[in-house]
Order: sequence, then C-alpha cells, then structure tokens
Amino acid sequence: MGAEEAVLSGLDEVRGWQEDLYRDLHAHPELSHQEQRTAEKVADRLDKAGYEVHRGVGGTGVVGVLRHGDGPTVMLRADMDALPVKEATGLPYASTVTATDGDGNEVPVAHACGHDMHVTCLLGAAQLLADGASHWNGTVVALFQPAEETGDGARGMVDDNLAELVPTPDVAFAQHILPAPAGQVGTHVGAVLSAADSMRITLHGRGGHGSMPQATVDPVVLAAMIVVRLQTVIAREVTPTETAVVTVGSIQAGTKSNVIPETAELQLNVRTYSDRTRKTVLDAVRRIVTAECRASACPQDPEFELFDRFPLTENDKEVTERVAQAFGGYFGDHAEPMGQQTASEDFSDIPEALGTPYSYWGVGCIDRDAYAKAEAAGRVSQDIPVNHAPNFAPVIQPTCDTGTQALVVAALAWLGR
Ligand code: ZN
Ligand code: ZN
Repeated sequence: MGAEEAVLSGLDEVRGWQEDLYRDLHAHPELSHQEQRTAEKVADRLDKAGYEVHRGVGGTGVVGVLRHGDGPTVMLRADMDALPVKEATGLPYASTVTATDGDGNEVPVAHACGHDMHVTCLLGAAQLLADGASHWNGTVVALFQPAEETGDGARGMVDDNLAELVPTPDVAFAQHILPAPAGQVGTHVGAVLSAADSMRITLHGRGGHGSMPQATVDPVVLAAMIVVRLQTVIAREVTPTETAVVTVGSIQAGTKSNVIPETAELQLNVRTYSDRTRKTVLDAVRRIVTAECRASACPQDPEFELFDRFPLTENDKEVTERVAQAFGGYFGDHAEPMGQQTASEDFSDIPEALGTPYSYWGVGCIDRDAYAKAEAAGRVSQDIPVNHAPNFAPVIQPTCDTGTQALVVAALAWLGR
C-alpha cells in the first residue's frame, strides 16, 4: 500500500466528525480578529491528535506542529474568519449570528467565503497525518490564521514571531473553495491571485461661492479630471500582455449645489499580477493625481493613504508542478489546471516571510448536477452563487472529502516514503 492510500484509509472515520464540525462552525461564524470559539475548537482537536499546539499567535491564530523523524517540513494553512454578510442559503445549519464589528456596528455574520470548510478540511488532514504517521517522515505544520478577509491576519502571525515557533517549512500550501463543480481540484503555476491595493486620495481645493468660481480651486472638477485621466494608466502604461485593474469605487465631495467644497476624496482599488506592474500602476496614480492637482493650482498637494492591501499570490513553478502531478495521480480527471483568479489573499505573507516556496489551489464546491445544468443553459454566472454572496455555501460532500484528500496528497508528495 502506498503512503497516500494508507493515510487516507482513515477518511471514513474522520468524515464522521468532520461533517458535524463543519455544520457547527458554519452555524457559529466569527468576524475577522474575533475567531476565539473557532480557534479553541481547532486547538483542542490538534492537541488531541498529538500536535504541539501554539495558541494566540497574532491574535487568535493557532499552529500545530507534528514531528515524525527526519524529513521535509510541510506547512498547511487554513483561514478561520467569516464575513459581515446576512446568510440566505436556507440551510438547516445557516447562521443567524450577529456581532459587533471593528467600527462598533452590529452586523450579521456568515461563512460566506467558506473558511469553515477550509478549517474542517485541514483538521481532518491533520488528524489523518497524525494517525498515519508511520507512513511518512518529516514535520507537519498545521497553521490556522485569523483575519484573511481584512488582509492582515497572516501578517499578524508573522509579526508575532511565527518564525521562532515553527521549524522553517520546505514548502507551504493553502486552498480555497471556489464556485466550480465539487470534487474538482485546480492548480495554477505562477501568479494565481492578484495583489490588491486600496488607496484613499484627498484633494485640497479652495472652497467658495458657486457663483464666483474664479475665487476658488474647484476639487469637484479636479476629481472628475483625475477619474478620466486615471483610465490611461491601464490603457497606456501597463504592458498590453499583463492584466491589471484600476477602479475608482468612491468619489465624495460637497454638500450643496451652490457651494464649491474645500476638498474631495477618491477611493481606488488596484489589482495587479506582478510586483513590477503593481509598482508601475501605483506610481502612475500618484504621479497623475499630483500633476492634476498642480495643474489646477491646488493650495496643497494631495494626500495618499494605502489600505486593505493584499500581497500577490504567485505559485512556485516546481512546487506546483509536483502538486499537480500528485493530484493527477490521485484525482485523475478531477484534477485540472485552474486559470488565474481575480480575487486576492494574504496567505503568501507567511511563506514569503519564511522564505518558503508555496502553492495555492482551488477546490470546487458546487453540486455537480446543478453546475452541469447551469453550464448547459449558459447561466453559470447567473445561477451559481459565488464566494461572499449571501446564498453561497458549499455542498458538504464531496467538497469536504476532496479538500481533505488534497491536503494529504500534497503533503505526502514531500513527506511520503
Ligand atoms: Zn473571502
Ligand atoms: Zn476566502
């Protein structure tokens, strides 16, 4: 019996508690940085499975370490947080939870991104690897991070001395459920998720009466010029073969038709797939906005504030090819290349900080018949809910099995004898 088969022979047993745990986590979602209950459940299970457990890493983060002889160190990561979304799945285990967010507002909370499934799969894989430790050599690091949705959970763990708590991994893995047929796994070599940067820009004009524009510097006209001129960043400054997005999602100025306001505020979102393009775009935005302000004779240069920043997720070629080969061997036709995704993640902050090559893959989670029907009708984008939608939820099986198997198969591609 190969290591994969031997370790995964325990799946029937693990599946029993995994499904209960999943429904429990789904019904008790917690906002970013508030994952206490989830973290406790995670730490208990890791502890019982024989892992050395570190709690409270970067807030609510939990790390389990399991050593079994000499060999490579493999890090497996799951995120734990939920979203301020009102669940509308109609499932018997749907969330009715509300919580107080960082701004002090009472908000509904739901696992609308599927992180409850990520936690369940990783706990199952951790248990299987512990039970089947006689079939592999090396060290497993099972890492559960807080606050992926706010983009600062991974960084928080790194800043809390993660590097000193765990042996340096030779390779790191993470996965995400996606609106694709359940049972599928998808890999991608190179940039798989975009870097994302949000920018708040404050423009300083000079206010005055709407009837006397000559005595003012109108930030509304200035903002309009900037929005139009920013469209040239992608069209004229980014290499045509590269993908990037600049969206001005918010523009705020003024209170009354006959008052020229003092200031205007723009909020931008930038998505890029290489560090070079990221720099090109952000530099271009600053240059254009500053120049437009000077062209308008603003009394003061604009102010720029970056927030909600997500790093680029760029899968290592060698690592990803080895994972894809292992997936092909185990999942057959259900393993396939997955295209570049437009979403963003903060996972890569961890392997980047540890100097570890990594791979991030997708796991389908939509009922196969429902997906096939939508596809046949050409209605996938209308009929299949996507992550963050109020009616998004994975089918528990085969999603849970697949996500668990994927983690074990990838880990054993390094640890297996
Ligand atoms: Zn999300
Ligand atoms: Zn997510």
